[in-house]
Formats: sequence, C-alpha cells, structure tokens
Amino acid sequence: MTAGSSPRETIPARLEALAAQARASIASANAKFAQIRAERLDTVADDEHDPEGPTLAYEWSLALAQRRDAEQTLEEVDAARARLADGTFGRCIDCGRPIARARLEAYPTSARCIDCQERFERAS
Ligand SMILES: [Zn+2]
Repeated sequence: MTAGSSPRETIPARLEALAAQARASIASANAKFAQIRAERLDTVADDEHDPEGPTLAYEWSLALAQRRDAEQTLEEVDAARARLADGTFGRCIDCGRPIARARLEAYPTSARCIDCQERFERAS
C-alpha cells in the first residue's frame, strides 16, 4: 500500500501519496455501492426469499466504513497542508511543542504530539 515511501520523500510528497490512496479508496467504495445496488435490484426482481440480503448489507457497511476512513484521511491531509502553509506544521496543535520527527515520518498527518494524542484519544 505505501509503496516507495523512503525517508527522503518530502512531507508534501508523502501527503500527496496519502491523498491519492484515499481518493482511490473512495472510488473503489463508490464502485462497490453501485455494484451492491445493482445486485439488490436483481435480488428483489428475482425472489421473495433474499439469501443475499444480509451479505449485501454487510458489504455495504464495509464499503461505507472504507469511504469514511478515506474521507477522514483527506481531511487530515488538508489540515496538514494548511499547517505547512502557515508554518505550524510539526508543532502539536494542543501544547505547541514540536512533534517527534519519527512520528511525523510515520504519520505525516499527525497534528498532536504523542502525549496529547493519547490524552485526546482517552477523552474522546
Ligand atoms: Zn502536545
């Protein structure tokens, strides 16, 4: 999935790669929705008992979750680009301290230092 992510890649390039991956994921989720809709129409026309019903509902929820994740990634990428533009990238949005370089390299969309992130996740 993260092909060719060398440490020399710049942050904007990493962000673009993440965004491209997210857009591809949204496109594949949308294709899945279209496919499920078509299968549902078939099933309804086909028969009263609906053996595919629960499977389709499950696949629908998977595609929905996939699209939500990807949309969230796109929002995080946008936010990271905004921080790059205004010069606050790499600083924690909560405490203002620098975010560890290794963390930014692993997660270029990180908005919080590890301590604040843990606090944030506990609180939410
Ligand atoms: Zn912090």
